[in-house]
Amino acid sequence: MPLLAVIGFPAAHSRSPAMQNAALEERGLTEWRYVPPIEVDPAHFEAKVRELAVGDYAGANVTVPHKEAALRLADLPKREALAIGAANTLVFTAEGIEAHNTDASGLLATLPTPRLGGRRALVLGAGGAARAAVWALSQAGAVVDIWNRTSSRADAVYDELGGYVELGGAPVETPRQEIYGIIVNTTSVGLHGEDPFTELPLHRGAFAERVVVDMVYGDRPSALLEAAADEGAFTVDGIEVLVQQGARSFEIWTGQKPDLDVMRAAARA
Ligand code: NAP
Repeated sequence: MPLLAVIGFPAAHSRSPAMQNAALEERGLTEWRYVPPIEVDPAHFEAKVRELAVGDYAGANVTVPHKEAALRLADLPKREALAIGAANTLVFTAEGIEAHNTDASGLLATLPTPRLGGRRALVLGAGGAARAAVWALSQAGAVVDIWNRTSSRADAVYDELGGYVELGGAPVETPRQEIYGIIVNTTSVGLHGEDPFTELPLHRGAFAERVVVDMVYGDRPSALLEAAADEGAFTVDGIEVLVQQGARSFEIWTGQKPDLDVMRAAARA
């Protein structure tokens, strides 16, 4: 029986088991099973992964805070994971441990069009989610600027990613919201009710006809997405990004495309 799991610290509240098991069942992959989250601290992460890799596990998702460590231990890191500096999907093969990053392609899949040539995008934040977003949007042809509360971290993201992809944009300290067709919030602002319009360089009145993605996810739309939707923006929430990254992990492990609506329903239940 091929097993799958998500490894994190914490991970108990992950929606991945419900989402992936629903998709496995719908595709008739009854011998597969996505087991409950595995919580392991950083000191024991590598040993746990190596234990799974020689057991019944076909692969795993990796979440906070282990995504960088997952890349470091891989024998076969994929190009996008190397560029982003983090892996969220591992595959245990006879040749060794493969490391993929599906956060980037998952984000792109949420956009109304995959062709972004000439579009201007603003990424807010400079953590792992921001690196995946800057890489993905740049690969798709957008001109991507990045803003972060701690500006030196935004500079570092640009310096590091610049070795892998042509970056048309730049780190910015006071972005002019009006010029961006795509805005992606990868900060954790909103996770605990913070006001996006005081914490982030965004204001109401300039969201119409934009695409606005908020990676934060909760049980109801974030204040940022509510404001953007009220003005007629195309909005994408963190659960849709989670579903799309999970769908790509599913395909990597099983070789089959999952039913997205089944995954959405399970992730939002
Ligand atoms: P991270 O590495 O901890 O980065 C957090 C970012 O948020 C940093 O840029 C930080 O800025 C910024 N920030 C925190 N509080 C802020 C505030 N009050 N004002 C302005 N900026 C603030 O986190 P991450 O791994 O990139 O994840 C970021 C968010 O995306 C989390 O909420 C996570 O749950 C979500 N996420 C969602 C998915 C999905 O599939 N939907 C995938 C990955 C991540 P400083 O550098 O100045 O501290």
